[in-house]
Amino acid sequence: MDRHRDRRRPANWHPRPGAPVPGPAVVFDLDGVISDASHRQPLLRGPALDWEGFFAAAVDDPPIPAGVGLTRATAADHAAVILTARPSWLAAPTLDWLTANRVRCDLLILRPPEDRRPAASFKRHELGRLRAAGYEIAAAIDDDERIVAMYRAEGVLALYVHSGYYER
Ligand SMILES: [Mg+2]
Repeated sequence: MDRHRDRRRPANWHPRPGAPVPGPAVVFDLDGVISDASHRQPLLRGPALDWEGFFAAAVDDPPIPAGVGLTRATAADHAAVILTARPSWLAAPTLDWLTANRVRCDLLILRPPEDRRPAASFKRHELGRLRAAGYEIAAAIDDDERIVAMYRAEGVLALYVHSGYYER
């Protein structure tokens, strides 16, 4: 336990050192928006879903240049928040990947251990915590239509990116 850790900050939040205090923000999904996960999608097909293998292979994702560019094009007075349903054990390799691929990220949020809720429920919960912490969400970008619908229901301008990972 890091006793210097800010007690108000959830354990699954990973702010960039020196990141600005909460204020206007844009929320990005990671897989299918910034990170190209198509090479590991076959692990989620068939009768035995290999979630562990699926997430472990994330370190080999190529970047999606347009998505990386969107993070870097985010206005300087807005925080770039990456909210992903990747599990928390991927925090360190994900932070390394973001740095290596020059993704702008002021705050990375992953799914806490033992959280088995649908991704849209997890992200709705984190949206509430972001707002409670003082983040004003100007827009959100996701490749899961259920999550886009959740953002819109919560009054967030949400943009859909078609990754093709989700069957219609
Ligand atoms: Mg996604």
